Amino acid sequence: MKDQNVDSFRHVGLRRKLVFELRSKGIKDESVLSAIEQVPRHLFIDNAFVEHAYSDMAFPILSGQTISHPSTVAFQTSLLNLVPGMKVLEIGTGSGYQASVLYKMGVKVFSIERHRALYLNTKKLLEKLGYGIKTFFGDGFDGLPTYAPYDRIIVTCGAAEFPSQLLDQLKPGGALVIPYGVENDYVMTKVEKDFQGNVATKSFDSFKFVPLIRNKSNI
Ligand code: SAH
Repeated sequence: MKDQNVDSFRHVGLRRKLVFELRSKGIKDESVLSAIEQVPRHLFIDNAFVEHAYSDMAFPILSGQTISHPSTVAFQTSLLNLVPGMKVLEIGTGSGYQASVLYKMGVKVFSIERHRALYLNTKKLLEKLGYGIKTFFGDGFDGLPTYAPYDRIIVTCGAAEFPSQLLDQLKPGGALVIPYGVENDYVMTKVEKDFQGNVATKSFDSFKFVPLIRNKSNI
């Protein structure tokens, strides 16, 4: 009997192939690729899709949400230019996969999720994996001021309205990466804050994301 809940040599091999594919798609940041090679993505998705866990595909997760394509995770993470030890806030924990990639890059991860079922499920999984990621339940539109400021902030849901409070929670010299725009056409956007507190914005390709929801009661 195959046990989908363990990490096997086969999974390790599939991850190597995925990393090869991501390299061929233009991902160059070796620390991102190395983290992706270490995180057992098949444990973050439903058993129904587990055979495709290492394909560059997105899948439905609990509460009608989505685990992003590995290439999207890799690209967005590369834009963060992480250095081990940094403090990083993620808005939209979802499956916990992106948070785990960040964790494997040696940064301190704080992640917030607005769906209770997802939050609880993911918290349990991350604990089981022994990943020291701090997860929170709540609306991340206004960030997580209690632990601010952060070196980096990553928003993993698409924002139609810019969550400007997040900029106040960035350290000088920090950066925020956010898919920003209209549904199904969110432009990956990097906002950098300099040491005088001025911000500069760069735009990249468009991506699909589930929406960043503001101020709705959680389930
Ligand atoms: N990073 C996740 C992506 C999940 S999809 C992963 O690796 O799987 C984006 C997530 O953002 C969803 O789970 C959604 O519920 C969550 N989300 C949307 N609006 C939010 C908000 N205001 N606060 C916190 N989480 C939010």
